[in-house]
Amino acid sequence: MVTLIKKTSELELRRGQEKKPVGFVPTMGNLHQGHLSLFEKALSEFEVVYFSIFVNPKQFGPHEDFNKYPRTLDNDLLLIQKTLNKFPKSEVVVFAPAETSEVFPPDSDQVISVEGLSHILEGEVRPGHFDGVATVVHRLFQLVRPTKAYFGLKDYQQYLVIKKMVKDLMLPVDVVGMPTIREESGLALSSRNQYLTDEEKVEALTLSKSMKKLASLINHKKENIQTAMGESQKIKEDRRWNYLEIRDAVTLSEDISESKKIAILGVFQLRETRLLDNLQVELQ
Ligand code: AMP
Repeated sequence: MVTLIKKTSELELRRGQEKKPVGFVPTMGNLHQGHLSLFEKALSEFEVVYFSIFVNPKQFGPHEDFNKYPRTLDNDLLLIQKTLNKFPKSEVVVFAPAETSEVFPPDSDQVISVEGLSHILEGEVRPGHFDGVATVVHRLFQLVRPTKAYFGLKDYQQYLVIKKMVKDLMLPVDVVGMPTIREESGLALSSRNQYLTDEEKVEALTLSKSMKKLASLINHKKENIQTAMGESQKIKEDRRWNYLEIRDAVTLSEDISESKKIAILGVFQLRETRLLDNLQVELQ
């Protein structure tokens, strides 16, 4: 059964009556197979799954796409029901607040900030973005009190920020990172892909192809990283790159001398649409 809740007071009431542990999938809606893969994983582990759909204004900059971000609640609910049909024993509570004030009452001005990780790479291009993410996820965790919460590794830096927030604040939730779901072409699924024209969708493949190229140059060997960094400098001569970096996979530090795993993180921009992707590579 799917229960749709739009008010925080109703959510609190329902959560208070829950007898079983809860799995949680936070999203901004406009669901695709990437979101649904997190949902299926949660349903495979929990009989009660909470799913939030909230376009969080705090994580958008003043000139970003908050107003035009696709809001498709009716279709999202159909996809949720269809996925739930595969798990007849499970129940889903969808929290889709109609008003921002349901999540952030006008008098709530606490900001959760994960220093360091939040101000580099994506955080440097989008100042305040990860504070907005950490603040909303923290608030949703307080409301939903999940045992486990599922996030996509597609937003790798976001996943690390949430992991660090949970550790620093000693929150009793297990944060699970799930693999990136891609189109057959290699393009990572994203709600923002629909902003692209057909030609741009082909150009967008530069992102996944370049990261794959760097990963195969590295070929799991630390001694190859210098060569890959040289290649990345050449790739970035194309001005459409916001960044393309090889970093330690845990700290996102540039210093990879002690790294056991690295992450290749990139953002490729087509007109106003910033496409974000990453690959992680284990080192031998
Ligand atoms: P969003 O609605 O974009 O905030 O995403 C909600 C969750 O879905 C986040 O944890 C994302 O990392 C995850 N997600 C988005 N796209 C994908 C994808 N292509 N594969 C796996 N997870 C994804």
